[in-house]
Amino acid sequence: MLLLSGPNMGGNEIKYVTECLETGWVSSVGSYVDKFEKMAAEFAGTKYAVATSSGTTALHTCLILLGIQPNDYVIAPNITFIATLNSIKYTGASPLLIDTDEHSWQMDLNLLEEFLQNETEQKENGCYYKKDGRRIPAIMPVHVLGNMCDMDRLLLLAEQYNLTIVEDSTEALGSYYKGRHAGSFGLMGTFSYNGNKIITTGGGGMIVTNNEALAKKAKHLTTQAKSDPFEYMHDQIGYNYRLVNVAAAMGVAQMEQLPGFLQRKKEIIAFYKNQLASVGDIEFQQVSNDVNPNWWMPTIKTSRQKDVLKILNDHQMQSRPFWVPMNQLSMFKDDLYYNKTDRSDFVYRHCLSIPCSTNISNQDLQNVCNKIKEVFQ
Ligand SMILES: *Cc1c(COP(=O)(O)O)cnc(C)c1O
Repeated sequence: MLLLSGPNMGGNEIKYVTECLETGWVSSVGSYVDKFEKMAAEFAGTKYAVATSSGTTALHTCLILLGIQPNDYVIAPNITFIATLNSIKYTGASPLLIDTDEHSWQMDLNLLEEFLQNETEQKENGCYYKKDGRRIPAIMPVHVLGNMCDMDRLLLLAEQYNLTIVEDSTEALGSYYKGRHAGSFGLMGTFSYNGNKIITTGGGGMIVTNNEALAKKAKHLTTQAKSDPFEYMHDQIGYNYRLVNVAAAMGVAQMEQLPGFLQRKKEIIAFYKNQLASVGDIEFQQVSNDVNPNWWMPTIKTSRQKDVLKILNDHQMQSRPFWVPMNQLSMFKDDLYYNKTDRSDFVYRHCLSIPCSTNISNQDLQNVCNKIKEVFQ
């Protein structure tokens, strides 16, 4: 089976993990956690990084640190992986969904601006939804598939309407907007090291920020809020959201290979575009000149989505449709969804992701392309 986006363990993973096993430093503290955090911050161009047990727990921690309350709204795109919305629901707040742009598949900033202009009002302590008077303290842009929206415009809107940005940059390790790394635009950003992400620790995550106080609080909160090095003294309800040293050891080995992985992802998307751009009605994700994406997960848009999915999966080439739009899931069906023509549904019904592991061979890429072409013959 050709995996959609599988792990690539070609470096020092065994060496570093073995060192953890041999020394016994496998658990919640150890030099690899510190090293991994340092590498993550350096790569993202932020001052601080705090490792977490997953991307989801990184997002949840960020929202707790912002003081998101049960009666609040947090703005998020309608097309994302469910973890974004779960993290909002964990705080008791409600997601406020914005429809997606048909071409970039990011949150539609025209709709966002229209919503903020017409449906919200400013009070001295923030932004409020006019219809029910509930607060909208934050926005979570998601860099869908490693692409990014017009960040200048998003930053301006956030400032104008008093919204704090937490970036769900979990898919965007190695993505840049005007030379600045994803995750470094918001007050906090997040990464995921799940098995299908561009680098993996089996499971894991990271919070990045330039704010020292927030970084310290993030570490505190994710390690059970223990406030004394000796006694079991804790000063708030904390979480066991830390990343273990043995996973961080894998992370360090993976970070060492990240430039090579990014290079390979660029070759993979170039291969697919070269072979498929003029086949049938196939289109690729639209990326602005300001964005240098990591091309984490090559995805095509076609009216023959179902046929392409079938032929690839029938031939052991794993491919997947886009996420079901959040408003179509039962848990979110009563949440606000701002849209004009529900482009999310259109994108969902036309897009599919195709095999793109960094260790895929060119021959396998060619085989995938040949199968896709068969559909259109
Ligand atoms: C991967 C991902 C996450 C985090 O997932 P974890 O599996 O918890 O690391 C969050 N949001 C999006 C959009 C993702 O793709």
